[in-house]
Amino acid sequence: MTEATINRHFIQQIIDTDIERGKWGAPGDRSVVTTRFPPEPNGYLHIGHAKSVCLNAGLAKEYGGRFFLRFDDTNPAKEEQEFVDSICADVKWLGGVWDGEVRFASDYFDRMYTWAVELIRKGLAYVDEQAPDLIKQQRGNLTEPGAASPFRDRPAEESLAQFEKMKSGGFSDGGAVLRAKIDMASPNMNLRDPVMYRVVNKPHHRTGGRWHIYPMYDWAHGLEDSVEGITHSLCTLEFENHRPLYDWFIEAINKGRGPGSEWGERIHHAQQIEFSRFNLEYTTMSKRALKLLVEGGHVAGWDDPRMITVAGLRRRGYTAESVRHAVIEAGITKYNALTDFTKLENAVRDDLNRRAPRRMAVLDPVKLVITNWGEHGDPDRLEELPAINNPEDERAGTRPVKFGGELWIERDDFMIDPPKKFFRLGPGREVRLRCGYWVRCHDYTADADGRVTEIRCTYDPQTRGGDSPPPDSDGVVRKVKGTLHWVSAADCLDATVRLFDRLFNDPRPGKRTGDILDDLNPDSLTVLTGCKVERSLGGATPDEPAWADGIRRVQFERLGYFCLDRDSTPEALVFNRTVTLKDSWAKEQAKG
Ligand code: ATP
Ligand code: MG
Repeated sequence: MTEATINRHFIQQIIDTDIERGKWGAPGDRSVVTTRFPPEPNGYLHIGHAKSVCLNAGLAKEYGGRFFLRFDDTNPAKEEQEFVDSICADVKWLGGVWDGEVRFASDYFDRMYTWAVELIRKGLAYVDEQAPDLIKQQRGNLTEPGAASPFRDRPAEESLAQFEKMKSGGFSDGGAVLRAKIDMASPNMNLRDPVMYRVVNKPHHRTGGRWHIYPMYDWAHGLEDSVEGITHSLCTLEFENHRPLYDWFIEAINKGRGPGSEWGERIHHAQQIEFSRFNLEYTTMSKRALKLLVEGGHVAGWDDPRMITVAGLRRRGYTAESVRHAVIEAGITKYNALTDFTKLENAVRDDLNRRAPRRMAVLDPVKLVITNWGEHGDPDRLEELPAINNPEDERAGTRPVKFGGELWIERDDFMIDPPKKFFRLGPGREVRLRCGYWVRCHDYTADADGRVTEIRCTYDPQTRGGDSPPPDSDGVVRKVKGTLHWVSAADCLDATVRLFDRLFNDPRPGKRTGDILDDLNPDSLTVLTGCKVERSLGGATPDEPAWADGIRRVQFERLGYFCLDRDSTPEALVFNRTVTLKDSWAKEQAKG
């Protein structure tokens, strides 16, 4: 490897060589690079698709070329406008900037049809009127060659007439197909006279009732790439053995073409390159399975924050930057691998650690009363203290928080009879309240079940801001081991907080029993109501960063990163936990 190729993935290396040799234009011209993201509008995008978006859009950006968003809308039975809209929004969110208008394969149906007619006339395609099951049977298998259809050698004129009839609604679904005439004995099953068109008598979301035939993926895809002048047609590894067919179709059209030919000029022939899929443990990348989760009501919709759809990740609080980082970091290679869920979580932790302002929130509140608050001034006073917004970013400054005689702290930060290593609060113990004061517990009350109802403390006025008190008369400085978060009871807001766990219990859902639903985690969602959050969370404050997607993200001190959910109203705040601060889950697993 030379210096220049180090850290360049294999696709970048191919493109670099192409540019150097002038394969697509003048040597050295980088702007010829043209890529596309070709989703079928039959579901929402998931994080696997995000890899393809980021790779394709990223390459076009890197080389100063072009990137297209093209819908592969070739199956009217499963496609919907809702999916088109969501996919556009998701690609945009991921940072994919497509060139010109959104493109649709259906806009090329006329051209594809003309090329199909051309292949029939060249003797390279024929209409087969056998039953679909029979056609399937005749394909043979890996050890046995296929058998020729009795329609294989019918005259071109006959096929042309039947193809026209297919197109205009003269056949019922499955009544006839157009097949390429390649090689029924090919060791590559894809080349055993593959189907190019089938009859589907259903209206299409864009072309309405105009067509009764729809092109198959292999036939359509290379033509779409050709029409758009795609240079590098990137797809996932499972298409490797479709590449000969991809090339065959373009070459079949180009056969006999050239200057002065009756067929016209040669058409553009993109290079198909396969790369590894993005796979993530504890989830599934199957659109069918994701659809099942939504339609079966196992999640609250495509954008449920537990889903690894792009919409779900966004609603969970993931940033586009962190998703981009995670999918590209997983590697552009020729080998499929399973990515650790922790890698994805660490990507968003790293990003939010840098950017998310710190706030205080108490999820399971218990009252803490400062019994000597009135001895040092007005008992009802609230003292405004500065709280650091982001220790990772000095420019983020501070915000005022109000400290008073009644506070909320986290129920599990107090123990009646704490073990030695518990550095938080207990009878007789002293702790620091973050950017507030030091408090020492001298009493508490509990109900009949032993559940603590109130914690009573004194505070030390010399510890304002959480600072250490001055040394005592012997020169000894008191120390505390624990720092707790809190909110002022007189100056806070109520909130609902959603905590999420993995949607599945198994790293490979469905592997055990064949049914992913068997591995659903019944405890993947916990909704906490009556949480107390500091008042600044009520509306965006000037110190908050401007998030490109308008989603407010914060760190709740000691609890994790959270975002404001779209269900939120100014009166009823709703937060989603994006991720905990540390990877507590991996630790739990190790214990279990
Ligand atoms: P299907 O074709 O079964 O509906 P699909 O996941 O392939 O499902 P497409 O809409 O065809 O969905 O995918 C659009 C693009 O995203 C394709 O180029 C595909 O190769 C790519 N893609 C899909 N899943 C992944 C993945 N897990 N990792 C990387 N790229 C992916
Ligand atoms: Mg696909």
